[in-house]
Amino acid sequence: MNDPGRTVRPVTDITDYHAHVYYDEGTSKAAAQQLRAAIVAAGFEVALGRWHDDPVGPHPVGSFQIAFAASDFASLVPWLALNHGQNAVLIHPNTDDPVADHSDHALWLGRQLELDIPLLKRLLAKFRASEKDDTA
Ligand code: ZN
Repeated sequence: MNDPGRTVRPVTDITDYHAHVYYDEGTSKAAAQQLRAAIVAAGFEVALGRWHDDPVGPHPVGSFQIAFAASDFASLVPWLALNHGQNAVLIHPNTDDPVADHSDHALWLGRQLELDIPLLKRLLAKFRASEKDDTA
């Protein structure tokens, strides 16, 4: 914390959160399915993403996404900490800096996986280039 150049960011920079539940199709998909069903049964107001049995974006193995409001962090994250079982879970805030969100700002439950951050950077560069084309 002795970095005089450190910029202190307010938590209001966070628009919402994602939790990414990781699984291997052969060994831990059933556990991920049970976890997903338990999330629904617990009544959390979250948006559950599709099943991705293969790596997608920076995510190195199969996964599904849970999108949730910042106001639900204090109830959902402790619940996931107790119930994620054998599935590794990445929890990241969404700010205007997706690379930092998936690296420096990330929280992990269970085993920490190595995300493909260089791929994320390439995808973002491509996205930003196409946005510029739209406004040009
Ligand atoms: Zn995400």
